[in-house]
Amino acid sequence: MAQIGQVLVDVPTMQTNDPYSYAIPAELEQQVQLGMRVTVPFGRGHRVVSGVVVGLSDGTNFDGQLKPIASVLDLAPVLNEELRQLADWLADQTYAFRITCIQTMLPNLLKAQTAREIKPTTELSPAEMVQYFPDGAPREFDTSKLDDRTMAGLLRLQRAGKVEVTYQVTSKATAKTVTGILPAQSIDELKAHQDAVVKRAPKQAKLLAYLQTLSPTTPVAQSRVSHDTGVSAAVITAAEAKGWLVKQPIEVYRDPFQRPVTPTAPLTLNTAQQTAVTAITQAIDEQQSQNFLVEGVTGSGKTEVYLQSIAVALDQGRTALMLVPEIALTPQMVNRVKARFGHRVAVLHSGLSKGEQYDEWRRIDCGEATVVVGARSAVFAPVKNLGIIVMDEEHESSYKQDENPRYHSRDVALWRGRYHHCPVVLGSATPSLETRARAAKGLYTRLLLAKRVNDHPLPTVHVVDMREALKQQGESDFSEPLLTAIQARLDRHEQVVLMLNRRGYSSFVMCRDCGFVLKCPNCDISLTLHMDTHTMKCHYCGHEEAIPHVCPNCHSRKIRYYGTGTQKVEQSLQQLVPTARILRMDVDSTRRKGAHEKILRQFGRHEADILLGTQMIAKGLDFPDVTLVGVLNADTALGLPDFRASERTFQLLTQVSGRAGRADKLGEVYIQTFNPDHYAIELAKDQDYERFFVTEMHMRHQGNYPPYYFAVQVTASHEDEATAAKAMYQIVAAVKKGLSANAIVLGPTPKAIARVKRKYYYQVVIKYKHEPQLKSVLEQIRQAAQIPARHGLSVTIDPEPMNFM
Ligand code: ADP
Ligand code: ZN
Ligand code: ZN
Repeated sequence: MAQIGQVLVDVPTMQTNDPYSYAIPAELEQQVQLGMRVTVPFGRGHRVVSGVVVGLSDGTNFDGQLKPIASVLDLAPVLNEELRQLADWLADQTYAFRITCIQTMLPNLLKAQTAREIKPTTELSPAEMVQYFPDGAPREFDTSKLDDRTMAGLLRLQRAGKVEVTYQVTSKATAKTVTGILPAQSIDELKAHQDAVVKRAPKQAKLLAYLQTLSPTTPVAQSRVSHDTGVSAAVITAAEAKGWLVKQPIEVYRDPFQRPVTPTAPLTLNTAQQTAVTAITQAIDEQQSQNFLVEGVTGSGKTEVYLQSIAVALDQGRTALMLVPEIALTPQMVNRVKARFGHRVAVLHSGLSKGEQYDEWRRIDCGEATVVVGARSAVFAPVKNLGIIVMDEEHESSYKQDENPRYHSRDVALWRGRYHHCPVVLGSATPSLETRARAAKGLYTRLLLAKRVNDHPLPTVHVVDMREALKQQGESDFSEPLLTAIQARLDRHEQVVLMLNRRGYSSFVMCRDCGFVLKCPNCDISLTLHMDTHTMKCHYCGHEEAIPHVCPNCHSRKIRYYGTGTQKVEQSLQQLVPTARILRMDVDSTRRKGAHEKILRQFGRHEADILLGTQMIAKGLDFPDVTLVGVLNADTALGLPDFRASERTFQLLTQVSGRAGRADKLGEVYIQTFNPDHYAIELAKDQDYERFFVTEMHMRHQGNYPPYYFAVQVTASHEDEATAAKAMYQIVAAVKKGLSANAIVLGPTPKAIARVKRKYYYQVVIKYKHEPQLKSVLEQIRQAAQIPARHGLSVTIDPEPMNFM
């Protein structure tokens, strides 16, 4: 036996991080490479499972019995050396299995069961064409059906770029189609018909003229035809009956970023921007894995800093990776990158079909795309030779994945920065506490953009005390001052952005008279309302009490669940300002693909006066005529049992305020709150990030929270509550035994939403500073969880959870 392949197999019920050894049969010897997917027989039944080759070793002196690799699924490795190392690191950091990490890195198409086709490229010679494609058409690529000689030949051709493998998504379920139109006759014939009908049927003539301009092979959407010609669907159907055209479904994805964008040239930088770009350029030049925090108020020109830094890397023949929180919510940002770097840009986002996603992935893999823009998982894009990684809005919680592997894109970005010896640029107006604290320690170089571009002032922020408003106006979502400000904008034909914060909706109880929120006596964290048990619970320590009917603070009876819906708010707003044109943006109005961008475009074209939305409108919008931002309920997130509640509130208020007055008109912000004295709200009013940072760090220090402590959350769930609870008690016992007295163990407690999908959830949170044993303890817990997993118990380990809920 010449060679042995180490294969990580994908067997959900028997996960392990150790690869299994398989013999590489002689006929596959030329094919098997590191990072390729293969199939292997597994277990007693020798059933065939898929896996990834993560090691090759010489088996000459091996004299045991090994099962052979059954087939090779790829012609070229899908994981390069860097990504293989990254998968190992990720598995170690997140307590996930290596195979799970690898699957996370690959485009969906490579995870799904897909049929593959092999087809000739223009390089293939006629003789080779005859030999390998006797039918003259692409052929199915099923390695188990091809003989070894053909396989070896195809492999050779693929290396020479003469053939390529493409993937056919077998499940068409997700593919969207619209009716397409193809001309069914030649131009001359159509012209003849046109001349015949031009007098008595001008509509038909128009359609016939149009059909002559269409390609006979590429269908055009019927809606497009109607739009361009002004003819109705009935006329088109009649034309089909006459045999002038045929209808054919076309698979569409209206990718918002396929539309052409106007190219832009670099702007002349101001001093602060120049200082930032110079520092980053130096790190690129010197190939240093230096990390930067670009801390710049909203509208300070951070994006221009990113773009010009990326240009430096590209000029040196290197590549760039740019991460954004959510592609759908940040179309303006993506367009700005495309406008600067054109076809070099690949955009990875979940809105792409599997095929499109894979195409972009391949463009990156082969080096055709040198700038990659994408959300969380784009951090795994197979870009080689990275010269810079940019992470915009680095504080956003969407960068953390809340399923296995529970990674944070920031950590992955920093790892890749080290691997490629390139700078990582983290940017935000409101950096996460972790990042800002690291900058304070000198781990990141802090680059400050303290002012808006052209010394444009930040908006004036007013805080409206809703307790007063309630006394004077009765219950309403809109205070007098905010309504007056809205009316003034309508009169001046300026635009308004209104945000209804839906986070924490109805999960806590607040007094409408005094703003009092019930808190845990032990933890100083809001208690959460549990409708199942009709109690208020603390999710940190397990404290539980009755739902209050009278405010413990002011004895008012107006203590109730807090929260309201966007639709309801839209209705009452329309009654208050009947002439206003309102656009609503929330989960309901944006369910369809491309809906976000459509709403934003409408707003940008002034087709509405007011954009009313949930926190999804807080990010990245840059509309010059928006001079007023209103926050209807600043409090909701403050009520969450989340140690980041203040941080999230401050970030959200600052971000949304930044939407006002971005061009030459001055901006104004109204924040409605029942807690006007809360420091997160007071400091958001002053837009004073630095003071917020200092204050919040003090609070975290007092409460032993991150970034002073590391945290791990372990969750056990089962259909039977007692089983989940018992497992959690055992886990807590094991954890406590393995840790020093300095570690803080919170729990076991039921989770915030204790019962989801008929399963009960119990958790423990471990806070620690230095616990060398922790990793092995958690490793044991993970291994032990595999056996009972078959009986429905699942255990998850979340390093650095976003919250403890
Ligand atoms: P941020 O990302 O910090 O919120 P942006 O990059 O969106 O800020 O910049 C705000 C506005 O200022 C944008 O319209 C941008 O085109 C403009 N801008 C940025 N830098 C400059 C510059 N150096 N000169 C002129 N305008 C600039
Ligand atoms: Zn508590
Ligand atoms: Zn009260």
